[in-house]
Amino acid sequence: MKIQAIIPAAGTGTRLKTRQPKPLILLNGKPLFVYALQAMERCSAVASVIVVANEKHLKIFGKFIKKLKLKKVKRIVAGGATRCESVQKALCALDSDTEAVLIHDGARPLIKPSLMTRAIKALGKDPAVVVGVPVKPTIKKVDPTNFFVQETLSRETLWEVQTPQVFKKDILLKAHALMLEPNPTDDAVLVEKMGERVKMVMGDYQNIKITTQEDLTLAKAFLIDERMSH
Ligand code: C5P
Repeated sequence: MKIQAIIPAAGTGTRLKTRQPKPLILLNGKPLFVYALQAMERCSAVASVIVVANEKHLKIFGKFIKKLKLKKVKRIVAGGATRCESVQKALCALDSDTEAVLIHDGARPLIKPSLMTRAIKALGKDPAVVVGVPVKPTIKKVDPTNFFVQETLSRETLWEVQTPQVFKKDILLKAHALMLEPNPTDDAVLVEKMGERVKMVMGDYQNIKITTQEDLTLAKAFLIDERMSH
């Protein structure tokens, strides 16, 4: 099965409050977006990669990709105003013989190739697979206008969804064409809304998304931990 990866990395990262745009922030001396691309290089199931970058950063992304010999990157496309639009631009650049698509946020640097392989294997049986982790805290639903608690959700059924998310190409293209959820924050929700089954596969608590400063601190700690265990 030919699998292409899409890496949306066109966000500006306003919640990070740094001068540098999020994908170019240095994590242990390396731009954040490079981590996900290096993981793709190490995953034999992924044939090639389409990276989505902010229009202003196309050149600098290209420079790093060349310098670091990220050979699987076939295209760098300009992103859109939202994550969903950025993914849609990449969908237009897929090869015609691609059968499945793996989407992974450029803002999740700690992705392990073994987790990608686990998600891809699950795709054999189901047309859409997401990785995620059972939530650890108690989650309450709160009224956003007056902050009164409305409900305490049962922890047994709650998972925090991550990327990678892997889809059979036809289903993903149909989901993005129909757009049954107007403001999707991941791709799987569009498939769910079509009534298709989406399989949850155990992810990795270290596979965090860098959103705020404390996520960067955590990522650095995880990277030290990993180096010490080798
Ligand atoms: O904004 P959020 O944290 O959900 O972004 C998830 C991923 O989507 C990030 O890797 C970010 O760079 C990417 N993104 C994008 N285009 C946008 C907004 C976000 O590629 N317009």
